Order: sequence, then C-alpha cells, then structure tokens
Amino acid sequence: MKTKSVSFGAIEVGATSFHVWAGPCVIEDESQFLKSAQFVRSQGGTALRAGIFKLRTSAESFQGLREESQPIIKKVRSETDLLMISEITDPRQIEFLDSLVDIYQVGTRNMFNYELLKELGKSVKPILLKRAFSARIAEWLKAADYIVQGGNENIILCERGIRTFETKTRNTLDLNAVAFLKQESPFPVFVDPSHGTGLSQLVPALSQSAVCAGADGLLIETHPNPSQALCDSQQALSFSEFEGLMAKLKKLTPLYGKSL
Ligand code: PEP
Ligand code: MN
Repeated sequence: MKTKSVSFGAIEVGATSFHVWAGPCVIEDESQFLKSAQFVRSQGGTALRAGIFKLRTSAESFQGLREESQPIIKKVRSETDLLMISEITDPRQIEFLDSLVDIYQVGTRNMFNYELLKELGKSVKPILLKRAFSARIAEWLKAADYIVQGGNENIILCERGIRTFETKTRNTLDLNAVAFLKQESPFPVFVDPSHGTGLSQLVPALSQSAVCAGADGLLIETHPNPSQALCDSQQALSFSEFEGLMAKLKKLTPLYGKSL
C-alpha cells in the first residue's frame, strides 16, 4: 500500500525525506533544553522532543516540569525553528499544549485510551501514535481508526518495542511490524530505538536496521550529559554518539530511497 504522506510546517513525513526527531526524554531546565535544541538543529533534526508531562512507572520518579515547561519552550522556540513534539497524557492538557506543541505524541501507555484518541481526532495537528507494549498490530491500527474517525488523518505510527520474555533489553523492537505496516497500512512509520532497546549502545544498530525495514523516521533520545539525565539516562545518546549515528544515516538513507 502506498504511504499517505503527512505534511505540516515545512516538512512532509512519509515521502522521500527521512526525518530524525530527537532530544532529551524530558525538559529539565532551560540550559539542558536549549543545548539540546541547538544540537539537534545543527545535526539536521526536524523536530525536538519536548517532554512536558511524563508517565513514569514509579510515582517517586520525576514527572516532568509540567506547566513550568512553558517559558522554557517559548524561549527555545524563539531561538530555533524546530518543531516541537510532546506527549499528551490526558485530554484536559490540550488547551495548555496547543500553543506549545506541533506534533502530539501518544505514548505506549495510552494507545488504548480511546477517549484521548477521540479528542485528538478533533485536532488538526499530526499525531505520533506509539504502539502499546502489549498491542498486536491489528489493535494498533484500530486505535489509529479512532483518530481518523474523529476527523484527523495526520497519523504517524511509531514502533517503540513490545514486551517479550527477554529481559536483557528494555523492550523488543519489533521491526517485523515496521516492514509489515509499510506494506499493509497507509500511515508513515517511525521507530524509537531508544525505548525499543533501553540501551544507548544498541541505538545506532537498531536505527540503521529501521531504515532497512522501511521506516520514514526515527525518534531518538539524546542529552547533553546522559549520565545526569533525570529520566532514561541509560538509553540517551551523548552528542558525539548522536553525531556519529547521523553521519551513518546520511549514507544509508539514499540506498532506501530517502534522504536526510
Ligand atoms: C517517550 O517517548 O517519552 C516515552 C515515554 O515513550 P513510550 O511511551 O514509548 O514509553
Ligand atoms: Mn524516555
């Protein structure tokens, strides 16, 4: 099936451009976010991960700066022209997020939250719909239908790993799903190798594998100082690791009909 591209801002996802959307797991402070933005921009990334509301397994873990992120995002927006992608965890956040965010991300824990999906169907903004770690491909596509039925067809699917019996890696990145969806679904497909593996040293290999499987883009965590990251420090690429990966992707993507 031919991929229906999703256009917004100055970019088109699902056509011949390959997109890398990157940044920290969560906004921690102005300096961390600004450094990340400038770096991602310099590397050719087209959207910045702007983690505002975080869904953490432990209630004791950092939950994001939440409303306090607003002035930081406004400042970074005025200094870079990057699009912002951020997870929405509750339909009541739409009013707050709408002026700050260009792409709504639905996280793995909320793929089955049909009320949230219905609300996002009313938005005109693109939705990056992550796969629930327990979802079959068919359930994932049915979740996308909720957004389409609400009137929003600007959907990008994102494979981020599923839960299997394996414990050495955080999740098992299902590249079968990527190849399958590129043949059988109309939506562009992204891959998140950071959450898919949980280990920064595996991110370059799985990023390149995603290109070979037919992905239209990647969502990657990178941080100015990974060991100090407040969230998901083990999977964040350092800036030099990220730069090395981008150099490889620039060579690889043209072999698969894409350019970065
Ligand atoms: C994220 O990308 O910030 C995130 C929380 O991902 P996931 O929902 O895939 O765990
Ligand atoms: Mn994360």
